[in-house]
Amino acid sequence: DESLGVVRHTRIERGLPTTRMMPDVKRKRVLVTGGAGFVGSHLVDRLMLMGHDVIVLDSFLTGNKSSLSQWVGHPSFELLRHDVVEPLLIEVDQIFHLACPASPRHYQANQIKTIKTCFQGTLNMLGLAKRTKARFLLASTSEVYGDPAVTPQPETYAGNVSCTGPRACYDEGKRVAETLTYGYLYQDGVDVRVARIFNTYGPRMHPQDGRVVSNFVLQALRGEPLTLYGDGSQTRSFCFVHDLIDGLIALMNADVHSPVNLGSHFEFSVKQLAELVRDVVARVREEDGDEGRQRLKVIYEALPTHDPRQRRPDTRRAAALLGWAPRWGLQQGLEEMVRYYKERMREGTI
Ligand code: NAD
Ligand code: UDP
Ligand code: UDP
Repeated sequence: DESLGVVRHTRIERGLPTTRMMPDVKRKRVLVTGGAGFVGSHLVDRLMLMGHDVIVLDSFLTGNKSSLSQWVGHPSFELLRHDVVEPLLIEVDQIFHLACPASPRHYQANQIKTIKTCFQGTLNMLGLAKRTKARFLLASTSEVYGDPAVTPQPETYAGNVSCTGPRACYDEGKRVAETLTYGYLYQDGVDVRVARIFNTYGPRMHPQDGRVVSNFVLQALRGEPLTLYGDGSQTRSFCFVHDLIDGLIALMNADVHSPVNLGSHFEFSVKQLAELVRDVVARVREEDGDEGRQRLKVIYEALPTHDPRQRRPDTRRAAALLGWAPRWGLQQGLEEMVRYYKERMREGTI
């Protein structure tokens, strides 16, 4: 069963993972680049629990070793400190290529390194896939659609992207990574998959990465005002990380070369998200016997340049080809995240 489970998640968070015995014919050597990051570490958990041999490659630019500490010493787990822009010679059956900073704050901190990671890093992993005949999955992004003129965005939409603005290093980087991926499919027959991931949130998001869900949850837990950029009317669709992992694994195992959107089709304005976070934080605090409901305090800050006005995936392709649809509601997912950050604040680790 490759589906998600709250129980499984809880077991991981308690640090007591039990992996499954998988017959040798089904067990794969799976490389996860960026496996110490937010999405990568959840993917590694799932692959390990399924019984695969997992190799993580990470430079620890934005990722954290502690997200993987539950696997250190496990005979099926290997962790390589390596920058994906350098060539890598190993033998693998599948590559999930996630290495790349994902939050605007992180990817803009060193724009040239971001483009280099997207281009040279993806080239290296495709070269590795070609040599080893491994199946290759690119973690692409909804940012390939830029500030979209159509909504929801289907995979056929060509996008509205600036090649010079502050988001360009990431948006154009991912677009060229997709181009490279299809180049290796058409020219060398590499067996590729492209996941266009929409805003995803959940436990283990970097607390300082500046993304909206982590910012709001931490601000609300600390009793600080929530920072709304612009008037808060811009929209996003938020997918819980366990749903995304289901989609990534389903895509890897399906016979689908075309790009596939993975994300939630429920669209919220940033202001609605702020209200929801306030409510969820208040409920968790009440349940835990902390002081009750707080007034929602917000401060308005400038809207970043080229911040997309709207974003919502057309997920019909994922439903038709993968039988995939997200199952976690935003309130439910936020509650998991609030509990996670609350616990980490209590431990003093954030
Ligand atoms: P993250 O920043 O938490 O993880 C990225 C990981 O890649 C980190 O562990 C980082 O140390 C590593 N990394 C970065 N550059 C590297 C390099 N040159 N060599 C080796 N390792 C490197 O981000 P995330 O949210 O987990 O995103 C993972 C992937 O999913 C990214 O490719 C991102 O573009 C994509 N994605 C994520 C989202 C989202 O909402 N989280 C949305 C769209 C796409
Ligand atoms: N590459 C790698 N590991 C491998 C095979 C290739 O890192 O196992 C890198 C290689 O260094 C090159 C890139 O992947 O920079 C593209 O490889 P490919 O064989 O497609 O092209 P070429 O080496 O002929 O330029
Ligand atoms: N945002 C906000 N307050 C914050 C962080 C982000 O209002 O503290 C807004 C941001 O301007 C954008 C949306 O929330 O409109 C999502 O931002 P995020 O950085 O999470 O992701 P992305 O812009 O890449 O979708």
